[in-house]
Amino acid sequence: MQINLTRRSSNDAAKLRCLAWRYTAMTEPDTSDDVCVYCGSTKALTDDHIPPKTLFPKPRPSNLITVRSCRACNEGASKDDEYFRLMISMRHDTGDHPAVKKILPTIYRSLQKPTKKGFQQALFNSMGDLDIVSGGNIYLGTAPGYDVDLRRLDRVAARITAGLYFYEFGNRVPGNLHVTAYSTSGLDNVNSDAKARVFNIFNKVTRNQPRVFGENVFAYWFQQVQGHDTMSAWVLAFYERVEFLCLVTPNEDVI
Ligand SMILES: [Zn+2]
Repeated sequence: MQINLTRRSSNDAAKLRCLAWRYTAMTEPDTSDDVCVYCGSTKALTDDHIPPKTLFPKPRPSNLITVRSCRACNEGASKDDEYFRLMISMRHDTGDHPAVKKILPTIYRSLQKPTKKGFQQALFNSMGDLDIVSGGNIYLGTAPGYDVDLRRLDRVAARITAGLYFYEFGNRVPGNLHVTAYSTSGLDNVNSDAKARVFNIFNKVTRNQPRVFGENVFAYWFQQVQGHDTMSAWVLAFYERVEFLCLVTPNEDVI
């Protein structure tokens, strides 16, 4: 099985780039064993759960992945992680997932904290009636929804992929590569040719066996690109509904 990543320089690529978020390693990989998997620092390291452990209801599974992260990277990501959890657990299609039902009370409680008032207000300001379109592009009517900052979600997905890359291959994403994350739900407005290329890769990767954590809280698939060992494609799925395609490729356009 081969994944074809051909270089494109069309409008599609520009559109996709707007939707995606790209993670680039800040420094060349460090040869030391104990480094922050995100930035390569060797200072103030802690264990970082990937994906964030707050996505899992308690009792949490014992096989959660941890990687080493410096305090700056860890703290810098925590607000994004919280936004990610809130946005994907409030989607109309994840509410019936047993794990989401279990974590929602915790999320609502955390929104009551005085320090979260600004966040809560911003959330409610972004809510409105959104059109719901089914997978086959059949209009399903209007449902209460909220605007999601997809790039922020993609940023979390790319970071998780950088962590998984270290977990699987034992080294950081090399400095000449980057991680690009595409939320599949962000592709609705992309022309069908570009969308088809993303889903073509998506479908090939998900033919492999996934690694699953919790009761289908998180699953990921990955595949290295034949002939290019360091390049790889990843699919992350949260609550069996929210999916991202993440590509680890050289620093040039690939879709
Ligand atoms: Zn770091």
